[in-house]
Amino acid sequence: MPATVIDGKALAAATKAEAAEKVKALKAQGINPCLAVILVGENPASQVYVRGKINDCAQCGIESRSINLPADTTQDALLAEVKKLADDSAVHGILVQLPLPAQIDEKAVIDAIPPEKDVDGFSPVNVGRMQIGEPCYLPCTPAGCIRMIESTGTKIDGKNAVVIGRSNIVGKPAALLLLAKNATVTVCHSHTANLKEICANADILVAAVGRAGFVTGDMVKPGAAVIDVGMNRNAEGKLCGDVDTEEVAKVAGYISPVPGGVGPMTIAMLLSNTVEAYERRLQKISQ
Ligand code: NAP
Repeated sequence: MPATVIDGKALAAATKAEAAEKVKALKAQGINPCLAVILVGENPASQVYVRGKINDCAQCGIESRSINLPADTTQDALLAEVKKLADDSAVHGILVQLPLPAQIDEKAVIDAIPPEKDVDGFSPVNVGRMQIGEPCYLPCTPAGCIRMIESTGTKIDGKNAVVIGRSNIVGKPAALLLLAKNATVTVCHSHTANLKEICANADILVAAVGRAGFVTGDMVKPGAAVIDVGMNRNAEGKLCGDVDTEEVAKVAGYISPVPGGVGPMTIAMLLSNTVEAYERRLQKISQ
């Protein structure tokens, strides 16, 4: 039987509907949740992502501020912009679209976002809190992956989970979140020996490599849940993931598509984090 396709768009719509309900209830109390998005330069892919985030905010009733800075913006100018938003009590979430131009140190910019407004979950404080299981904003892509796995009814507890990729924004946090759900986790990377054998033992396989067609049918355990994080262009210029979908769908139990999988869930989790940022502010004010 071919794998069941995990409908990321439908799941994202449900997550956004939840966020919209919360926004409605919160707005009745007179304050609007607001996400500020900073884009530096004119990278076409980044422009598309930012537009998507702004549109989705509007759909959920979340106010957004879009700050577009020229490609030659200096680090000091960008840090000053982040500081302005950090000090602005009407802004609840701050997102700086990555990648940034070469003259800017990404780490310094992420460090400048206060943890309570870091809705991307990239700041060292949020990363550390996630590591030790304290309340924090979860990074949107890995958190979306977990929701997708759970939406299939797959129990993560006790399963063998393999994550291919160890980046700070996807691979490592995905592995930590799976570990927190009691999976036995293996993280693979470009130095891993016996990658195929390791993957073929996975009940849950998360691919975050950045190479079209990297995961082939012989790397997948029959019935496994396969989450494809990759966003690549194939030889025809078409958007595709890391998984050879046609082949893997014959073996896996569940598979997430690209497009229409992790991408929409990532934005939905961002909106969910923004609402949470707003709720936490309210809690602080009432304390
Ligand atoms: P990245 O920083 O380039 O990391 C890629 C990882 O893959 C690295 O850990 C690398 O290992 C590993 N890798 C590369 N070649 C390998 C090989 N032959 N065997 C095993 N591992 C290998 O990329 P990323 O930021 O994590 O993103 C991964 C993919 O997800 C990209 O396609 C990106 O566009 C996509 N993405 C999608 C979303 C979304 O919203 N859908 C969000 C973020 C990223 P080393 O560490 O050893 O180099």
